[in-house]
This record gives sequence, C-alpha cells and structure tokens, in this order.
Amino acid sequence: MKKIRIGILGYGNLGRGVELSIAQNPDLELAAIFTRRDPSVLRPLTDHAKVYNVKEALNHKDEIDVMILCGGSSTDLSSQSPAFASHFNVVDSFDTHAKISQHFKSVNTSALLSKHTAAISAGWDPGLFSVNRLYAESVLPLGNSYTFWGKGVSQGHSDALRRIEGVSHAIQYTIPIESAVKEVRKGTHPQYTAREMHTRECYVSLKPGADMDKVYAEIVNMPNYFSDYDTSVHFISDEEFMKNHSAMPHGGFVQRSGTTGAKQENNHIYEFSLTLDSNPEFTSNILVCYARAVYKLFSEGLYGAKTVLEIPPAYLSLQPIEKLRAELL
Ligand code: NDP
Repeated sequence: MKKIRIGILGYGNLGRGVELSIAQNPDLELAAIFTRRDPSVLRPLTDHAKVYNVKEALNHKDEIDVMILCGGSSTDLSSQSPAFASHFNVVDSFDTHAKISQHFKSVNTSALLSKHTAAISAGWDPGLFSVNRLYAESVLPLGNSYTFWGKGVSQGHSDALRRIEGVSHAIQYTIPIESAVKEVRKGTHPQYTAREMHTRECYVSLKPGADMDKVYAEIVNMPNYFSDYDTSVHFISDEEFMKNHSAMPHGGFVQRSGTTGAKQENNHIYEFSLTLDSNPEFTSNILVCYARAVYKLFSEGLYGAKTVLEIPPAYLSLQPIEKLRAELL
C-alpha cells in the first residue's frame, strides 16, 4: 500500500503531537518537518525525521501529499493556510471562531486556483464539537444548546496573563460551574450568562519586584478575558508552577435538550463529551484523520476548502467503506 506522505509545518505542541500520531496510523508516513526557526535547534521526537526551514518547503512539494499546518491561530494560520493552499493540500485547526468564515474564503480561493484540497478548523472546538452541534440541532429542532469547557487550560487566556508586566509564568484553567451543568442535564432549558456557566482560575508566578496587587487588579478587570467571569488568582513560586502546572488537560461537552410530541411533552438530551489528558495530542490526532480525508477528496478531484461539517465521516477512517458498513452499522 502506498502511504500518504505527511508534511508538518510548525513545530510546537501540535507539531510534536502530529509527529507522534503519524506513528499510530499505518497508512501514513512523515515526509518532513518545516519550521521558521533554525532547523538545527529542533529535536524531533522520531529518529531520522527530516527538518527544514520553511523557506525550503516548495523544493519538497513533490514529496508531500498533505501538509498539516500546526501554527497558532492568532497570528500564523490566517497567512500560512492560504499561502500553503496555493501549493499543497493542507489541514489546519484554526480556532478563532468569529473569523472562520473569512478564513474559509481566503483558503478556498487559493485552493481552488491551485487545484488543491484544504480542511480548515479541524480540531475539537471548532471541529468534533461543531459536528455534534449540527447533529443535535438537526435532530432536535426545538430546544436549547449549551457548550461547557473544562476543567482545562485555555491557551489564549494563559497568553493574556503572560503579557502582564511583572508576570513570570502563568496558566489559566476554565472550570464549568457544577450547578449549571446539573441544571442543563436535567433538561430544564435554563438561560445563562457567561459568568453563570464558567469560572476562571489563574496560577501566576511573579518576577522579582513585581507589584502583586497591581497584577491582581489587571487580571480580574481585563476586558474580554476575565472581567465577565468570577476569576480567582493564586500567586505561586516558579518551582511550584513547573512542578504542578506543566500539563495541558482539557475537555468539555456540547449538549442539546429538545422536545418532541404534540404538546412538547417529551424531553430528550443529546450530549457529546471529551476528557483529555493532553489537548494538543488529541487535537493532533484529529488533524491527522482529516489529512487522510483531504487526500481522499483530492484524489477524487474535489478541490477547495472544506470544514468538518462538509467532509463525510467515513473519509476519516483508514478502513474501506464496506468494512465500516459491516462493522459499525
Ligand atoms: P505552539 O505555541 O506550541 O506553536 C505554535 C507555533 O509557534 C509553532 O508552529 C512554531 O512554529 C512556533 N513555536 C513553537 N514553540 C516555539 C518556541 N519554543 N520558540 C519559538 N517558536 C515556537 O501552539 P500549539 O501547537 O499549542 O497550538 C497551535 C494552535 O492550535 C493554537 O493557536 C490553537 O489555536 C490551535 N488549537 C485548536 C484546537 C481546536 O480544537 N480547533 C485545539 C487546540 C489548539 P515554528 O516551528 O515555525 O517556529
């Protein structure tokens, strides 16, 4: 069997996760890793992995079936995804929800022009959660939808803490409010504000001489990040930070409670939940499945950008559809 040759662009948490995930999938092989940094400073996890500077990527175009883009959503992917879709089939995990339609348009334009296929926003949220929202809202047109995240690390909120003057290390955990979760699971269709669904818990170590009260006030009053939530801040040492806050767990669930019956007398709960020890490793496994799907779509001449809502689920699998029909239906 000819293996699907995967390139990795960007070698951070997701880049390393994709590298590990390829080894779990016998139909895939790692072709090369590309980075904006000096390739000699990276230490790949697999023996003999080839690492190049991103400027060399086009020289390796014919060795790569799908390039998995592992850059950050805030600054990297909005330029990297359309640029690489001009030369490669690509997959990304773009997660800035408000900008996904705009991102789709620019990647779609590049991919259609170059006759390539691209899957965008292929993670868990957006991603698997989105697919489940679609199933739940289609099946239960009368009802209410909820998404709870955590307990888990929010990279965006942790980054915001680290930008505050005087902060040495920082991490933010998003925690769902148990009483709100219970109410939703009862199917009572409650209406909640952001503050009533989640709390935010911050662990921060300070640089020598930093003003703790000033840092605290800056955190709890930060608009868009913390001011709309009940936020607790724990000041700890660098040593405690390294010892207890280096993992990246996450998870959450999407839920819809809906009604059927002549008088809407029957209530139904649809729930999809995830509990993840490592957010980046799980997300990387999703990216790898969508790389396989992109390769299949491309092989059928289906070019342009697609989202998880448009890609047939069977395309994610290594197994042929006949086997899936026999075993999963
Ligand atoms: P990282 O910060 O670890 O990596 C992002 C990029 O930064 C890398 O591609 C790399 O590019 C560069 N980089 C990494 N480490 C270093 C370093 N030590 N020094 C300098 N540059 C470095 O981000 P993640 O891999 O954790 O996450 C990437 C994105 O994935 C997030 O921004 C998030 O938006 C998205 N995501 C989406 C999810 C979803 O459900 N849709 C879930 C989880 C994440 P280079 O090698 O070129 O320097």
